[in-house]
Amino acid sequence: MSTALKPDPSMIGGVAKVPLARLPDPAALFSTRAERFDFLAGHSPNLAPYLRFLAGLCRAQADLAAELPQPQPLAAQRVELARSSRMPPLDRKAMRDGLAQALPLLLGRLAALDMPEPARLALAALQAAEPADLDWVMDNVLADTIPEDSVAPHLFAAAALQVHAAMQAAALDAAKLVPIRIGTCPACGGRPATSLVTESIGAEGARYCACATCQTLWNEVRVKCVCCGSTKGISYRSVETGDATVKAELCRECDHWVKILYQNRNASLEPIADDVASLGLDLMMRDTEWKRGGFNPFLAGY
Ligand SMILES: [Zn+2]
Ligand SMILES: [Zn+2]
Repeated sequence: MSTALKPDPSMIGGVAKVPLARLPDPAALFSTRAERFDFLAGHSPNLAPYLRFLAGLCRAQADLAAELPQPQPLAAQRVELARSSRMPPLDRKAMRDGLAQALPLLLGRLAALDMPEPARLALAALQAAEPADLDWVMDNVLADTIPEDSVAPHLFAAAALQVHAAMQAAALDAAKLVPIRIGTCPACGGRPATSLVTESIGAEGARYCACATCQTLWNEVRVKCVCCGSTKGISYRSVETGDATVKAELCRECDHWVKILYQNRNASLEPIADDVASLGLDLMMRDTEWKRGGFNPFLAGY
């Protein structure tokens, strides 16, 4: 092929230049996630009802992404200001109106979906909620906070925010993003759910954190705590011995752990769906002194 004769712009001096961020394609991302949840449900008898419910929720997210109006690109001035002050260009507070618009649309799409009883009750409660109660739920998910005694309503609100935030992120220019600080999404300032060791052209073996909110993937070097940035005292644990494709990356400096998914060994691994389906690792880690550092609204309450 003639293209093979041209220099690869992703290769600088023979070394792969890894892009800082990969922005999401919202409709495709949520559809792929739904398929992965369905597949995982077929392989996890204990979790199957919950995984099937999340598959349906992700399909509704994909439909919602196709229904919502495309966001306006951010003003160039605003992007420049964010870059120079090392802030994410997307402002969480500015997502409030979009979330308020997306949430009822998402809830309306879920009426016919089979779901666990607590989720069904939360869906009905959200649809009948007073504005002040809805505001409380929306404020919490905008701050990546999920109260332990109110997980189910927050799950729906977080799912609506994921769609809105992913659409906002998709309208950004990845080349204009700059690293903010460890464990912080360069697009929206959100927290990672998991990290992925990838294998793709120009980025073999590079590790990316998956934003739990806007779904942007951002590069972080390997063997480094994505909570505190320490490169000392990092170790790995897994449920299976040998070649596990999902491991816990543990940090002795801050006593947190975050899942790392080896997509280079299994290309189907999905940062949110496989996080939920690998609940066994969470249960194993719960009996240790380490605290979970990854944020995933679909795992809140477990
Ligand atoms: Zn983000
Ligand atoms: Zn740490």
